Amino acid sequence: MKELFQIDIRYVKGIGPKKAQLFRKIGIKNLEDLLYYFPKRYEDRTRFVKISELKEGQYQTIKARVLVRAERQSFKRRGFRLLEVVVGDETGKLFCVWFNQLHLKDYFKIDTTLILYGRVEKYAGRLQMNSPEFEIINEDTDEMLDMARITPVYPLPEGITQRSFRKLMRACLEEYLPKITDCLPYDIRSRNNLLNLAKSLLNIHFPENIEMQKQAYQRLSFEEFFIFQLPLALRKFRRKQKKGIAHKVEGELVEDFMRRLPFKLTSAQERVIAEIKSDMARPFPMQRLLQGEVGSGKTIVATFASLIAIQGGYQVAFMVPTEILANQHYQNIRFWIGECRLEGRQINIGLLTSARKEKSALPQVLKEGRVDLVIGTHALLEEEIGFKNLGLVVIDEQHKFGVGQRALLPQKGAHPDVLIMTATPIPRTLAITLYGDLDISVIDELPPKRARTLTLGFSKRNELEAYKIAKEQLRQGNQVYIVYPVIEESFTLNIEGARQMYEEFKENEFKEFRVGLIHGRLRPKEQEKIMQDFKEKKIDILVSTTVLEVGIDVPDITCMIVQYAERFGLAQLHQLRGRIGRGSKESFFILVWDALTPEANSRIEAMLRYSDGFHIAEEDLRIRGPGEFFGERQHGLSELKIANPLTQLHLLKKAREEALRLVGFDPYLNLPQNLKLKERLLRRFPEYERLVLVG
Ligand code: ADP
Ligand code: MG
Repeated sequence: MKELFQIDIRYVKGIGPKKAQLFRKIGIKNLEDLLYYFPKRYEDRTRFVKISELKEGQYQTIKARVLVRAERQSFKRRGFRLLEVVVGDETGKLFCVWFNQLHLKDYFKIDTTLILYGRVEKYAGRLQMNSPEFEIINEDTDEMLDMARITPVYPLPEGITQRSFRKLMRACLEEYLPKITDCLPYDIRSRNNLLNLAKSLLNIHFPENIEMQKQAYQRLSFEEFFIFQLPLALRKFRRKQKKGIAHKVEGELVEDFMRRLPFKLTSAQERVIAEIKSDMARPFPMQRLLQGEVGSGKTIVATFASLIAIQGGYQVAFMVPTEILANQHYQNIRFWIGECRLEGRQINIGLLTSARKEKSALPQVLKEGRVDLVIGTHALLEEEIGFKNLGLVVIDEQHKFGVGQRALLPQKGAHPDVLIMTATPIPRTLAITLYGDLDISVIDELPPKRARTLTLGFSKRNELEAYKIAKEQLRQGNQVYIVYPVIEESFTLNIEGARQMYEEFKENEFKEFRVGLIHGRLRPKEQEKIMQDFKEKKIDILVSTTVLEVGIDVPDITCMIVQYAERFGLAQLHQLRGRIGRGSKESFFILVWDALTPEANSRIEAMLRYSDGFHIAEEDLRIRGPGEFFGERQHGLSELKIANPLTQLHLLKKAREEALRLVGFDPYLNLPQNLKLKERLLRRFPEYERLVLVG
């Protein structure tokens, strides 16, 4: 028999080539896709809410009859045409309004009965639903499928009706469920009290009752988490079997470095260093994720790890996302280890960026092993860059690199240790599951004696207040950043841009100060020059875009004004805030907003309220939901269709445990009960073929 995924949707009864196109657009290419296309919500159509019982502010479903239909101009917004429909049941009337959707009017013939779903609002003293979803009841309505039950409502494009979709789904479930094989092995299901696949699919689409729907949801979420965790578990398992480098973690060089360090390590740094040491000493490759706020002192930790590798005669590659950052790390690390000696000689450090590469002999010396530590950008990934004996890879600000890029650099050595760093903290439990193949260290403490950073907020009307604070700082000899979301002003968005405001500030508001401009369209060399001038205090105020987001240190900046703060993401704002207060003076982080959406408002509130990155991350996750939060680059959680790591963390953990357990006793997924799973896994993540089949 053909598997579900082998049956093209085109050949399913009732779907022609034209419909098939539409289905493909929503990701349904075959029967399996169809059965895994889940409802967005359900309506209990066995009992409707009466109009007299409707509650303001809630989403509710009613069944009612069309009484009146009318079109008119909007009073409030010129050019907007309203379609108004008054519906009623035996208890009262309700106004329904659609904006600029007059084409819908043919649906609402007087006396038509329909089901409406939407948020009930009070408007001009009466109850109203704005653009509710609706379904007309007529002779096509299937009493059993569409009405007398908990009815699924799907996210569908125009051209596919709820009703036809339900009918199709029902027919396919009836025909194919009896033949379906469950991809989850029986013992996993029974240990975790999970329904079998057939029952789950049936109840996710057409629940017998709410309880069964919940169980189906659990089971299908578990399955999603599980398939997502499996490759991570496999990777972790394989890695621990590989032969890596057992570094000599104690020695002259690291001791020398510690002695010369101009400050005392925080206890968090010490703990993390101990974790790294114990990894590096072991004979399999380290893969450790180091999380820590901007300014928490990750670079020192990475430098320490580098010296461990170097003292055993290995080379280190340290990759960062921007040229500016590469430069800064290069300067800092040179400063820290310049005096350190290994068997009487200096440590050789190289800087590799695409700008410098052409002229430099670095690729050659790297290959010969004459450079101990190379700091660089993506340029490190290029084919011509090779090492004699790469022993450690450090990747800073890992979220700026794709998953693929992350994997490339270590391949230039023979299973070197890998340390990945991120300043975008992810709530710990989630991190464990998201980066399930990595070990995780957290620096949850900032170096002492750092002065406070105050966060303030003003609306655009009061931006002069913000400038007043900036001027006061400038007069005390400090420096200021003013950040804009865009370079050029935008008339469509109706916002000012960095370039125009730079001119403006120079002429007016800040004319007694030296104003500079930096943005991403400048060549890296120019950007560096400007940052250098700023660092050397040849510039007082730097107007910029978010090129600054990633780590440059200028200790005298005590004020940053972020314009149109509503246009920045929470993680981005937090990163920006990390750019100031790097010295010992109290600093001001000032958000200026123009038009606030409720979401933007929550972001700004979070910034005003929380200063530590983990709180910010949790808020971010809460405001945006996991899909957005993780973005496109972090494939996996963002692709989950049904499971939600926020609300189902417990289930996610169980799925992870089961994945690790399974991999432990069937590392190639070759046992008969796991074959179906393997097939699913390879279809979902084809790139794991090598991992699963060959190892
Ligand atoms: P991160 O990379 O996590 O953003 P850095 O490693 O750049 O942080 O450190 C931020 C600043 O704090 C640097 O100037 C560094 O020299 C300093 N620093 C790091 N660790 C300590 C410490 N234990 N005590 C005092 N200052 C520290
Ligand atoms: Mg850093």
